[in-house]
Amino acid sequence: MATNETAKKTRTGSIQWRIVLIYILLVSIAMTVAGVFIINQLGEYMMDNVRTRFTKVITENMQILASYDDLSASRAEIQNDITAWSNSLSEEIYVADNSFEIIAASNERYRGISAFEVLDRTLVVRTFNGESTEIEETTASGVPVVSFLYPIQDTSGVKGIIVLRADVSNVYETETRARSIFFRSMAIALAITVILSLLISRSITIPIKDVTQKARKMAEGDFSQEVSVKSNDEIGQLAQMFNMLRGELDLTISDLTSEKNRQSTIFRYMADGLLAIDRETRNVLLMNPAARNMLGLPVSESGMFPYSRVEELLGSEVRFDRMWKNAEEGGVRDILDHKGRIFDLRYDRFKDDENEDAGLIVILQDITEQQKAEAMQRDFVANVSHELKTPLTNIKSYTETLLDGAASDPETASRFLSIIDSEADRMNRLVKDLLQLSRLDHKQEKMSMKELDLVPLVRSCIAKMEMTARQKSQTIEAVFPDDLHERVVMDKDRMEQVIQNVLSNAIKYTQDGGAIRVGIREEADENRKKWVLVDVADNGIGIAESEQARVFERFYRVDKARSRAMGGTGLGLSIARQIMEEHGGTILLTSPGLGLGTTVTLKVPHAPTRGVRGIE
Ligand code: ADP
Repeated sequence: MATNETAKKTRTGSIQWRIVLIYILLVSIAMTVAGVFIINQLGEYMMDNVRTRFTKVITENMQILASYDDLSASRAEIQNDITAWSNSLSEEIYVADNSFEIIAASNERYRGISAFEVLDRTLVVRTFNGESTEIEETTASGVPVVSFLYPIQDTSGVKGIIVLRADVSNVYETETRARSIFFRSMAIALAITVILSLLISRSITIPIKDVTQKARKMAEGDFSQEVSVKSNDEIGQLAQMFNMLRGELDLTISDLTSEKNRQSTIFRYMADGLLAIDRETRNVLLMNPAARNMLGLPVSESGMFPYSRVEELLGSEVRFDRMWKNAEEGGVRDILDHKGRIFDLRYDRFKDDENEDAGLIVILQDITEQQKAEAMQRDFVANVSHELKTPLTNIKSYTETLLDGAASDPETASRFLSIIDSEADRMNRLVKDLLQLSRLDHKQEKMSMKELDLVPLVRSCIAKMEMTARQKSQTIEAVFPDDLHERVVMDKDRMEQVIQNVLSNAIKYTQDGGAIRVGIREEADENRKKWVLVDVADNGIGIAESEQARVFERFYRVDKARSRAMGGTGLGLSIARQIMEEHGGTILLTSPGLGLGTTVTLKVPHAPTRGVRGIE
């Protein structure tokens, strides 16, 4: 019902109907004005004709009437004259003398009566004053007539009046007929106007309706709408503008969409966690996956959810009210410690479209690793200084003692000098190791990779270390077949350095008389990739489980004094690990526990079976 009413309202209020109405009004006004004017002019014209005819008769005959000295006395002659005129004129004529009596008349009824009985008194008086007058009236029988009153005068003055009365019913009839013709033609004209104006207004409104309809579709998101431009007039220009607007909008919207996509991709993949919180509702409006991971929230918490959930998780540091107040003067930076992870927390207020503070943007950056690296860097520098300082202090104190006179005792001098020598050696080893580590860190260590058989290298390392082992009454046994061959791509010198380091550790950290067994085997992983593994197993002091992973850290030693006494720098295993990684391999250390021996395993990829020729 309501829709029908609206439709009706729209139809009557539409431009089309307004145009039709305007046309009807214009045509009716124009025709009425023209019709009234023409009909009036026609009546005037016809009356003028009567008037001209009468004036002509009067001017022709007035002299005759004026020549009678006494009108009353000459009434018989005058009656004759009038009868003659009225025959030729077919109008009523009568003459009144200065006593207002009608002395002669074409109509017998008027003869002898007072002029005032048949004529308007003022008109009669005015005519007797020398003025020609006229009057339109309707007779008792309903005939429209017009009377012309002329004074009969000579030099002595007005002697009487002559009245000519004409039947003007034909004038009125003509006017009535003209009016009816006018009304009929007006009806026809209006009918034509309605049809024409409907056609004209349709030609205007159809393109407008087309534009409106397409604009509606555009508002619903369909930008494929193109309006056909049929003319170069205002409507054609409107259509052109619409098409231009559509193009621009399409472009702008696709720009916006791709910008939005770009932003949402950045938002999704950015490493920093981002949260937007609404001030009014205290809801989290936006949260990227990084933030969800950092806060350990389930995936279900990705839509809008109350910020109090985050407050519960992270504690008072990130209470909304606290952050809101802190951010009053601008962005704030804080450190947040949550479940062993360290976050760089930054937040600031964001504004809405009316430039009012609308909420908070929080950015979380997990800086745990960064902090760890910084701490490691600090520790490393402290360790290096400490490791260098110890031999330096020793060298300095022994040198001073020698200078203070100990040199005079050759035995003491020689002992001291050998200590100084071994401390200098230690420093030299340390500096050499440090330099190699630094080269490995900066990928500056030159590696000369070749495909070689690893087995002979292991055998030669064992042979080289046998002397040292023998000094501690230890045995080193190769527990792999004599004819074994394992080809790997390696830098022979660096690989030798690693094997020797591992063997020397086994000797160092195994009591006298211990046994060291070296095995070589092959292994395939789940991707069927082949690896070559070298196991160096001793039955020495072993390592507690908690310390097994730490021995690869720089300067980490289970027993500092023992390592130092053995000439160790605490850098051997970290260098070994880095070299193994350069080979695409690893180094592993396992021990069942203290006193239960240790096995160190080197793992390198097996050279491809159909190796690239020319590597060696
Ligand atoms: P170092 O110069 O002290 O030997 P490494 O980096 O080679 O330095 O070794 C680090 C630490 O690992 C050693 O100080 C020692 O405590 C432990 N370690 C290494 N190899 C063995 C092993 N075979 N048995 C027991 N402990 C070992």
